[in-house]
Amino acid sequence: MLGWSINLFRIRGITLAIHVSFFALLGYIAWEGWLEAGLEGAAWSVAILGTFFSCVVLHELGHSFTAMHFGIGVRRILLMPIGGMAEFESIPREPRRELLITIAGPAVNFAIAGMLWLVVGAPNRWSLSNYEADPIGFAHLLLHWNLLMGCFNLIPVFPMDGGRILRALLATRLPYTRATFWAATIGKILAASGALVAVFWWETYLTAVLFLFIFYAGEMEYRALLRHELIEAHWRQTLSQLDAIPPEDPPMINPG
Ligand SMILES: [Zn+2]
Repeated sequence: MLGWSINLFRIRGITLAIHVSFFALLGYIAWEGWLEAGLEGAAWSVAILGTFFSCVVLHELGHSFTAMHFGIGVRRILLMPIGGMAEFESIPREPRRELLITIAGPAVNFAIAGMLWLVVGAPNRWSLSNYEADPIGFAHLLLHWNLLMGCFNLIPVFPMDGGRILRALLATRLPYTRATFWAATIGKILAASGALVAVFWWETYLTAVLFLFIFYAGEMEYRALLRHELIEAHWRQTLSQLDAIPPEDPPMINPG
């Protein structure tokens, strides 16, 4: 399913790809804009979506460039309707590195928000649907949205950034798989609670689906780690068994 994507371009060797489902979101946003204000409305909506997702790409590049600094390869950045995902060749088991790579993403959002704040100041009213359709209003919308994105990603729901930070902090005290187990368990409880609140309190089903997706992703990553550990343990055992085999008699050399 994740394979249904289109490669756009490369940045420092990282392929930027868009998942096909992203075009459904683009179409939906353009349609909503069209209903509100015709062609201009559609163009404005698409421009806003494009700018939002440019910030998502910058967030992912924050993770990616920090990972590359530590010698970890980054295959691609995949954009999906629910956000972006940087695909690393490996995830560092060293808590300090995982912490820095993870923090770098939200840090980009806070840096963008900070720069916009310096240029246009803080908005008078904090409401995503209330900004003027002019450059200052757009800058305020972008500022607000980057703050939200930075904060939302820091919620400790594994495998989101906040959950990874929690895992890295736990891994300074616990073995890596135990740390992942607890980060994933706390994440699943929070994600399930979030889904329930979204359905019964906020009545936003899209947010509930997002939380369920995060719940599932956390479980999948924990299981993948267990599988990896099992294979490694198997190989360690096999190798130790090989070590234990007594050396055979040297082969007989037939002088004839
Ligand atoms: Zn992130």
